Amino acid sequence: MTAFTEPPKKRLGQHFLHERGIIDRIVLAVDPQPGDRLVEIGPGQGAITFPLLDRHHELTVIEFDRDLIAPLTQAAQAHGTLHVIHSDVLQVDFTALAGDGTIRLVGNLPYNLSSPILFHALDHAAVVRDMHFMLQKEVVDRMAAGPGSKVYGRLGVMLQAYCRVTPLFDVPPGAFRPPPKVDSAVVRLVPRPEPEIAVHDRATFARVVRDAFSQRRKTLRNALSNVCDADAIAAAGIDPTLRAEQVPVEAFVALANALARDAA
Ligand code: SAM
Repeated sequence: MTAFTEPPKKRLGQHFLHERGIIDRIVLAVDPQPGDRLVEIGPGQGAITFPLLDRHHELTVIEFDRDLIAPLTQAAQAHGTLHVIHSDVLQVDFTALAGDGTIRLVGNLPYNLSSPILFHALDHAAVVRDMHFMLQKEVVDRMAAGPGSKVYGRLGVMLQAYCRVTPLFDVPPGAFRPPPKVDSAVVRLVPRPEPEIAVHDRATFARVVRDAFSQRRKTLRNALSNVCDADAIAAAGIDPTLRAEQVPVEAFVALANALARDAA
C-alpha cells in the first residue's frame, strides 16, 4: 500500500483540506451531473478528489507533485476511475482535454499560482463550462468587486468581462493542514456564452485594462495616453477624467472594441 508520507510542500502551495463540512459543500456546489467531464487542478492527497469520485465515478486530475501521483492513484481505486495527468497545470491544453465537449474545472488552487491559472483557464474559456475554485478570500473579493470598491481592479475587470463571478462561501484557515495565514473562499466562475461575450479583440482589451489600472490615481485620459487620446475615450461614452476604479466593466469593453475597430 502506497501512503501519503511526504510532508506538505510550501513551495507548491500545499494546504490540504480536512474539514468534511467544507469538502461536502464544494461537492454540492459543483453538483456533478451524468456526462460531465470533471477536471480537478491540484488534487493533493485527494480531499476533494475522492468525494467527487464517489459521486461521479470518473475524474481527471492534474497534479505537479511527483510524490503524490502513486499514492493518489492507488487510493483512488476504491472510489472510481481516476485519470492522472502529472504536469504543471499551466502546460495543460484544456481545449485538447475537452475533446469535442466541454470540461468543468474544480480545485483548491495553489495560492501562489491562482492568477496565472485563472488566466490560463480564460484562454480556454470556449471549452470550460464552469469553474469552482478555492482561493485566498482577498483574491475572491477582488475577482467579484465592482466599480467604486477599493479592491476593484484589473483582475476583476478581466474576469468579469468573460465570466459571471459568484463568491460562494468563506473558509477559515483551520480547515486546512497546515493552515494558511489567510482566509480562503470558494468561488464559481461561469464563462459567458458566445452571444454574451462582447470583447472583440482580447489583446486590445487586456492592454486597455492593464494600462488603465497601472496607476490607480491617474485619470483615464492620463493612464491610457499610450493607448488612445481623450476623444477616443469620450467617443466610447466614458468621461476621460474618471479614474479606472470608477469605470464599469462594460465601459472598458466598449472602449477596447471601439479601438480594435478603428485599428482594423
Ligand atoms: N486539493 C487538495 C486539497 O484540497 O487538500 C490539495 C490542494 S493544495 C492547496 C494545491 C495542490 O496543487 C497541491 O496538491 C499541489 O501539489 C498542487 N500544485 C501546485 N502547483 C501546481 C501546478 N503548477 N500544477 C498542478 N498542480 C499544482
